[in-house]
Amino acid sequence: MKKIFLIIIITAHLAKGQDINVCKQRFNQYLNYHGQLNNAVHFDQQSIRLKNASGKNDWCVYANEIKALAAYFESCSSAEILSFMNKKACQKLSAKQLDSLSLKQKKSFTKNKQSNKPLAGLKVAIDAGHFGTNLKDAAAEQKFLKIVRENNADTLLIFESLLTFQTASLTKMYLEEMGAEVFLSRMQANYTSFNCSFDDWMKNHRQRTLDSLFVAGTMNKVKLNQLSTCNAYKFFWDFFREFELANRAKKINDFQPDITVIIHYNVNEKNAPWKKTSDKNFTMTFMPGAFTKNDFDKADGKANFLRLLISNQLNQSERLSALTVNHFSKDLSITKAQSADATYLAENCLKTGSEGVYCRNLYLCRKVNSVMVYGEALYQDNEKEIEMLRKNDLNVNGMQTNLRVQEVAKCYFDAVMDYFK
Ligand SMILES: [Zn+2]
Repeated sequence: MKKIFLIIIITAHLAKGQDINVCKQRFNQYLNYHGQLNNAVHFDQQSIRLKNASGKNDWCVYANEIKALAAYFESCSSAEILSFMNKKACQKLSAKQLDSLSLKQKKSFTKNKQSNKPLAGLKVAIDAGHFGTNLKDAAAEQKFLKIVRENNADTLLIFESLLTFQTASLTKMYLEEMGAEVFLSRMQANYTSFNCSFDDWMKNHRQRTLDSLFVAGTMNKVKLNQLSTCNAYKFFWDFFREFELANRAKKINDFQPDITVIIHYNVNEKNAPWKKTSDKNFTMTFMPGAFTKNDFDKADGKANFLRLLISNQLNQSERLSALTVNHFSKDLSITKAQSADATYLAENCLKTGSEGVYCRNLYLCRKVNSVMVYGEALYQDNEKEIEMLRKNDLNVNGMQTNLRVQEVAKCYFDAVMDYFK
């Protein structure tokens, strides 16, 4: 009897050491961008220690705490993780505290065997990138292509925001047919996540928002004056871009999705300023990870880092991202991008073990608290793609779009179906 008891204790102990090894693997594989966090995170047999700038232990997570904390953090905002960890610091949580954490966990999706719809009960958030669908709005965020062809007889005009919104709407429709509950972070092709266009937001909410940030003490007088008077382009890049992304992240996290699909369309960066078409076309997907020292030093950067380190979200995101890029490549006939194919892949990303999947610490990648894929299906400025994307000859349930967008939406849908198979 004693022997069995001892074996159980040893097995439990080894399993906990195993949890630390899994986190360490995740750190090396996905998070530690070119060794920048080597001195900031320390692993030993019993604990993971996050250090502050002067090398002192700031936060510690012990082996027996990993599972409970990971599950708890999946239902927390980064502010809640931050406040929890600042309070905990390097204290050990009692069995009672660990038990009480389990009460706060979010319910994860399990297939409903009674339902004839395979995704019944699944919550999917979809973020359609950008918002400009006319030259005025799109001029601020610079997410459109205007290519005048040589004979000057023909102008090709493509708005990424329109393509992402159509793709999101179709993906939503396909997923809902399978029983999923789907949330879109913006409601119309020309809308920001604030339920209005950028132009309307500027007219109706700009000054009010800046004033309230000033009153709350999060913006000083100089900044307030600057942002109240600058032009729309400068306002977008100095303030609105991140402000609006924060709103998307908040809306998505409030929905508590099981998975999040972020939809973008890419261009060939070497074809800037995109006055002509390009013969290049690559497909890729992004997932969270690739933290630099800078990202880590910000308080909420560290909170998101810890969630990604101890939870299984990164491994699951790699799986979903790999399934998605495989569909892009196979179903759209586009080669998967290698690191050398784009500067940002070589310089800002970590290559994963799945071809075409890259860890990139984009704003939404670190802020969205769920398994995710961030898709860049194709290059819009490719000479063949632009001809397909400019068409508007397909009507699906009252929405005008084209066959290429429908094919991309099918890829996202098929990847989700494969993921839950
Ligand atoms: Zn984009």
